[in-house]
Amino acid sequence: MMQQVSRQNKIRIVNLNPGCEPSGILLNKIVMFLRVNGYEYTFDTEASCDVVLINSCCVSNAMMSKMKIMISETLEEGQVKKVIIFGCFVPFAEDRGNDARVIMIGPKEAEEFDQLFAHRIPIGHVPAGRLNSRLFRPHQLMDADEDYFVLICQGCTQNCSYCNIKRAKGRITSRSAEQIIKDIQQGLKEGKKNFVLVGDDCGSYGVDLKTDLACLVREIIDACPDIRLKINYVYPGRLIHLFPSLAGSIVSGKIIYMCVPLQSGSKRILKLMNRDYDLGRLRDIVTEIKKIAPSLWIYTHMIVNFPTETMEDLEDTLQAAEWFDDFVLFNYSDNPMTAASRFYPKVEGQEQAQRLRVCMNRIKNIHCGRLDQI
Ligand code: SF4
Repeated sequence: MMQQVSRQNKIRIVNLNPGCEPSGILLNKIVMFLRVNGYEYTFDTEASCDVVLINSCCVSNAMMSKMKIMISETLEEGQVKKVIIFGCFVPFAEDRGNDARVIMIGPKEAEEFDQLFAHRIPIGHVPAGRLNSRLFRPHQLMDADEDYFVLICQGCTQNCSYCNIKRAKGRITSRSAEQIIKDIQQGLKEGKKNFVLVGDDCGSYGVDLKTDLACLVREIIDACPDIRLKINYVYPGRLIHLFPSLAGSIVSGKIIYMCVPLQSGSKRILKLMNRDYDLGRLRDIVTEIKKIAPSLWIYTHMIVNFPTETMEDLEDTLQAAEWFDDFVLFNYSDNPMTAASRFYPKVEGQEQAQRLRVCMNRIKNIHCGRLDQI
């Protein structure tokens, strides 16, 4: 039995990646659990505490290195009795078996907090849809104060060649429509109108439950007709598959935002990314959505400087980004052990910098988009 944390312990909470929705919701659930069960905690990174909870991330090699340094530095603090590492870094973490102070809880194991902390209200019963900017800084059309965030699933049905998230979370695990609608009704009680459906890929929702995202959206709209929905991360291949049954909900105007990460406008690069969908069909669907629901804001993510990328590939990607209302370009970096990390030649050094300048100039010229490095 894990030695429990007591209410006398001073808890410091560290959030490594406030830009990730699924991670923000999971951390918020933990924070609310601590609050409703009478534990004191701080986000002050300078505060001297004997328990440190680190909300981890594995999205990039840079993030993973930051994680390793943070764990070592925290363990060097003499007064620290427990270091709880939660989230996506856990499956990648070296075995710290020799340090009894370290407790690892994976992204799909939040219920383990019930073992670790004496409690009156279990973590599964704690509402977590209201995120504050300490926990989450949206980089897309979301508002941490106005929106209510609902986690609908974790993991996905794809296997993109560059991705660490899949390695951390594995196959799709969906929550039931009943649980999701209960969360939305809680948000309505709290006066919210905009609800963000969150997952690593909402498009994979329900594959493990013999249902899908289109059915879920219909059930939500039937149960809560006055709400507006934002859907983050719908894998393009899943959108192409679901569009015929999702179109009715789109025409209803209840869906006001969707993020469809295209990642590249080059067929050849998509093949290397192991992302299998028809670019032309996807473009037609985006055009159709803007026709039948003009106020639905469609956002996309693109990866630039992917290994072997040519200037023609980059141009295809920048042109495809303009199919959408807005976009973010992420500068590629290798995640060790992924298939993509074994692809050559890399786009690096002067060539990489030159291409980022091309991207910045395009963004400036079209007054749209943003460049980011994770
Ligand atoms: S869809 Fe691809 S990029 Fe997204 S979580 Fe799944 S494997 Fe990773």
